[in-house]
Amino acid sequence: MIYSIDIRTSQRSEFVDITARIEKVVKESRVSEGVCYVFTPHTTAGLTINENADPSVKKDIINILNILVPKKGNYHHSEGNSDAHVKSSIMGGEKTVFIENSRLRLGTWQGIFLCEFDGPRKREVWVKIQGEQNASKNL
Ligand code: ZN
Repeated sequence: MIYSIDIRTSQRSEFVDITARIEKVVKESRVSEGVCYVFTPHTTAGLTINENADPSVKKDIINILNILVPKKGNYHHSEGNSDAHVKSSIMGGEKTVFIENSRLRLGTWQGIFLCEFDGPRKREVWVKIQGEQNASKNL
């Protein structure tokens, strides 16, 4: 089964913290030990795992991406959003996170973000969970 999470973005470029929504899917799956695959089916958005404690970190990443890949440039794609396609490929569209004790095993300061580069739009994130349901703790 593949779970789908709907996300409505509100700015052209923005990182949306989706950690809690993915944790909810993990709980629903009843998988206690396993792997969580996260995938976003878009060509102008991506996924990243980074700091979710200080919101200025995501601002810094967006600012640097805007310097590296300006909106206007010598692009061939006629849609006017080539920068968003390039940023999507730089960030990548899939992540894998371990599940332990029915929770995502992330670092203390880590969160999972949808990276919007051509919003505002309606976006989807697909989540596939594999592992043992309610694993026995007997050793
Ligand atoms: Zn395009």
